[in-house]
Amino acid sequence: MVKVLVYADMVKDALEAIGAAQTLGGEIHLTLSGEAAEKYSEVAGGASSLALIKGETTDEIAGGLIKVYDTVSPDLVIAVSTKNVKDILSRLAAEKNLPLAIDSQEVSLENGKLQVKRNIMSGRATATLRYDLPAAITLPPRKFKPATPTGSAPAPTTVEAGPAKVKILGRKEKQRGAVDLESAEIIVSVGRGFKKKEDLKLAFELAEVLGAQIGCSRPIAADLQWLGEEHWVGLSGKKVAPQAYIAIGISGAPQHIAGILDAKIVVAINKDKSAPIFKAADYGVVADLYKFVPVLVQKLKEKKGA
Ligand code: FAD
Repeated sequence: MVKVLVYADMVKDALEAIGAAQTLGGEIHLTLSGEAAEKYSEVAGGASSLALIKGETTDEIAGGLIKVYDTVSPDLVIAVSTKNVKDILSRLAAEKNLPLAIDSQEVSLENGKLQVKRNIMSGRATATLRYDLPAAITLPPRKFKPATPTGSAPAPTTVEAGPAKVKILGRKEKQRGAVDLESAEIIVSVGRGFKKKEDLKLAFELAEVLGAQIGCSRPIAADLQWLGEEHWVGLSGKKVAPQAYIAIGISGAPQHIAGILDAKIVVAINKDKSAPIFKAADYGVVADLYKFVPVLVQKLKEKKGA
């Protein structure tokens, strides 16, 4: 039986990573930090061991995870991809000379080797890769069925984080709203089809009536800076997995599509009927967003009020 070290800092991610580990029939050793560590009783049932890391930076937590790795000697390390997790597992992989497969869509063990499927070329092809064990992988959020832990949780061991290799000289609070695209159920996403920043209010109104979060294409966050980076979806932005992704005035460049491959339903609103976004969309509306979105908002408000 393979020994799987599952790391998470959030409960929902812990359950998904445990779910993936269970499909491999693995013996599960849990290491938690952050919210997941505080609520460990919600996830640790049935685990073979449980370590809690108290640390703040990814550098410190990676130091703690390396200590757990040395104690457990796992065959495989699994975690759900977030910006922090990718940073932490990269540090672990570099320190322990492990192969690291980011965003593995499918995971299996074949003749003692790890086999994963990963999207490559911005999602236009899938690569099947085989690695010798030990190895480390991250999983796209919401790709694997969350586990339902049963049985009693093992007694937790507290692991010292660090030592920190990065010295923090100062801290500055980042300006941001309550944006958490990775766990959003519905995302209304805006692109360069909007002519000016003030016009984004059309999308914000739609998001409000739908209870959605706001995403955007790269130019909106990086070039025009109409929205913060936390809204940026795509290859170099966030990879999202909402129930519905509504792309407004977004052309559908491969680098944007790479971020929405796990969306359940994609709706595209674009005035150009040959825009590539329609190839990735389940529902397409060929229309001028300035005419269509206000009507959509009005109709939804009427429906809600009814
Ligand atoms: P455009 O391509 O300009 O599209 C605007 C769309 O709006 C058009 O299709 C147009 O028909 C439509 N439109 C215009 N007016 C209206 C209207 N009135 N009503 C309705 N529709 C209208 N991009 C990302 O998004 N995310 C990434 O992570 C990312 N990473 C990248 C990484 C690399 C290495 C590179 C090279 C590029 C990356 N890009 C990324 C950029 C990407 O290639 C595209 O340039 C970008 O996605 C285009 O953004 P857009 O769709 O908003 O703009």
